[in-house]
Amino acid sequence: AHLDRIAEVDGRVNAFLHVDRETTLAQARRVDERRAAGEELGPLAGVPVAHKDVFTTADMPTTAGSKILEGWRPPYDATVTARLRAAGLVILGKTNMDEFAMGSSTENSAYFTSHNPWDLERVPGGSSGGSSAAVAAYEAPLSTGTDTGGSIRQPASVTGIVGMKPTYGGSSRYGVIAFASSLDTPGPFARTVLDAALLHEAFSGHDPMDSTSVAEAVPPVVDAARRADVNGLRIGVVKEFAGEGYQPGVSARFDEAVEVLESLGAKVVEVSCPNFTYALPAYYLIAPSECSSNLARFDAMRYGLRVGDDGSRSAEEVMALTRAEGFGPEVKRRIMLGTYALSSGYYDAYYGKAQQVRTLIKRDFESAFEQVDVLVSPTTPTTAFPIGERADDPVAMYLADLCTIPANLTGNAAISVPCGLADGLPVGLQIMAPVLGDDRVYRVGAAVER
Ligand code: GLN
Repeated sequence: AHLDRIAEVDGRVNAFLHVDRETTLAQARRVDERRAAGEELGPLAGVPVAHKDVFTTADMPTTAGSKILEGWRPPYDATVTARLRAAGLVILGKTNMDEFAMGSSTENSAYFTSHNPWDLERVPGGSSGGSSAAVAAYEAPLSTGTDTGGSIRQPASVTGIVGMKPTYGGSSRYGVIAFASSLDTPGPFARTVLDAALLHEAFSGHDPMDSTSVAEAVPPVVDAARRADVNGLRIGVVKEFAGEGYQPGVSARFDEAVEVLESLGAKVVEVSCPNFTYALPAYYLIAPSECSSNLARFDAMRYGLRVGDDGSRSAEEVMALTRAEGFGPEVKRRIMLGTYALSSGYYDAYYGKAQQVRTLIKRDFESAFEQVDVLVSPTTPTTAFPIGERADDPVAMYLADLCTIPANLTGNAAISVPCGLADGLPVGLQIMAPVLGDDRVYRVGAAVER
């Protein structure tokens, strides 16, 4: 049914980079065989899932939205892919994304822009915009994404679905094409908080293949989503994430969500996190710095594209030609920014300073969580913007990540749940919890989602 739905609507939504009916149906038959053989499969066995094209898949190509990886077939599955396969989920295909997960709209994909199912003239958010569009358009019941600087929560918010960024290290980065390694976090998309928790639980947990994987057990997120109550919880409204720059309808839906939480028995207080306003500039130094190092592996020798290798050129020339053609403008901008910020003479002023800001944000979270159990804010300052509106203005594009980035810099758990419409478009409520407090955001999210 989902393959048929994709065939019916994806010509307009453009959520998928790769769909392969035969491979998907073969996977589904394999699940039936395992079940018939008496294998104990998890609660999601037989449920289809769409993967962001940043997760390696041994039976489907993986491009990370880049020309430099066009046609590349990974020799192995990412841990997330492998665990979901083992749990009996069936892969519907690979979803579109901003190139190497750099962007907030999918307009930086080297292939095409995905469209928001609520209004096809608008973006579905990014970088995991194919995954959010696929779930919102009923092409997939579940999908995966990665959240380095909001790339799960922001697209979930603008397409009216649930998107969760787990605690950093709570879900494995093994087989996830790297953008910024100290931030990259795989997570789930779904249409309800409970569905997201089921998917989350199926792929998370310690992975010896990821050196930053946390040793602690995953908090029981499915139980928390089923519990769905806020009775007696203290909820902090982040004072700095309001006012000018927030679309009036977004602020109105946010205020209503806070009232709902109060009516359900939560105690709501205002909390100040003064350093959160510096998160965006710090992120846009740290993430490009890490990407400039991670993307050095695309050297024209090891993967995908190779340009100008006709025997007349040196390896260095082939590398330069390949990177010039294979990387898009945003990726080049980030590599240049990051290389600059890391160079000796500038390191202390830029990268070093940004890392200090990161510590201040961590302290803001710590002092906030001495007063409250979770923090809430709008997920994004505005609803989905029109395709093209911010494409030529990187700074305007970066503003979409204003509220989501603090939790990335510190590794905290955070979710976006739908909280109504503004001018006919979805608005998201962000709920943030301490590191390893993933269960709390599911508990509160399930109580307040609508
Ligand atoms: N908008 C952020 C960026 O462009 C999103 C990154 C992400 O979470 N992958 O860096």
